Amino acid sequence: MFSLSDKIAIVTGASRGIGKVIAEVFADSGAHVVCVARSGDAIKTLSEDIKAKGGSASHSTCDVSNGESFTALINDAVKSYGKLDVLVNNAGITQDALLMRMSDEQWDTVLNINLKGAFYGMKAAIRPMMKNRGGRIINVSSIVGLTGNAGQSNYAASKAGLIGLTQSISKEVASRGITVNCIAPGWIKTDMTNELSEEAKQEFLSRIPAKRIGTPEDIATAALFLASDEASYITGQTITVDGGRVIN
Ligand code: NAP
Repeated sequence: MFSLSDKIAIVTGASRGIGKVIAEVFADSGAHVVCVARSGDAIKTLSEDIKAKGGSASHSTCDVSNGESFTALINDAVKSYGKLDVLVNNAGITQDALLMRMSDEQWDTVLNINLKGAFYGMKAAIRPMMKNRGGRIINVSSIVGLTGNAGQSNYAASKAGLIGLTQSISKEVASRGITVNCIAPGWIKTDMTNELSEEAKQEFLSRIPAKRIGTPEDIATAALFLASDEASYITGQTITVDGGRVIN
């Protein structure tokens, strides 16, 4: 498929789910991948597994909502590897509640990780990417950021915010060879969606034209394309990877 040979990539939320598979696919395609999450054991295992298969990876523990440590992580990676080619802001959480029952803390926690984390990451990544005369930023949004979802106003606001942030930053850096895009996954089989009730799962499934749940690989291949040299003329876009759910 697409080659990321000699590219340095940072993938947040790489300890499991979508981020883990993005890290594996990027490494299989030739990139050195810096795997990031809060839980150190899982990303250490991932980077060891990638290396055992002949790939190149390292890992760093970081809470992306902590601007100081996320910025330091990106600066350290640039110092260690000499450049940064790709940043995937994938780390994300849900803390669902109807608006009337949503606490300030639920609102702030979700916005700080899902949206402000990406802001910190992009702010730190853009300078080295400009110096390197190019780069790829991929933000993992959600179709909920396009359609909204009852009980997920904090999550939907963070994911819709990511789309606006992506469009704005893409305009700021397009002339420097840096592309900034979003992927909006539909329902993807990971820990995040495992907790849905059987009834909710059947209801979702009935509204997906492709009649199947998505896999982390479906998202990782879209991320690989956006990260590749071949995607240099695509910027400010949101690619939905959802089996047709949003058009239904
Ligand atoms: P997941 O299985 O719950 O994994 C989330 C990842 O994010 C984990 O690696 C987690 O690791 C990391 N993470 C969470 N908070 C973090 C923080 N503050 N700092 C650094 N890392 C953090 O979720 P997923 O389903 O793979 O979702 C990945 C992304 O896709 C999210 O942005 C999610 O909103 C989006 N998405 C998912 C779906 C879906 O159906 N699954 C649909 C649309 C969009 P630690 O807990 O170790 O930090």
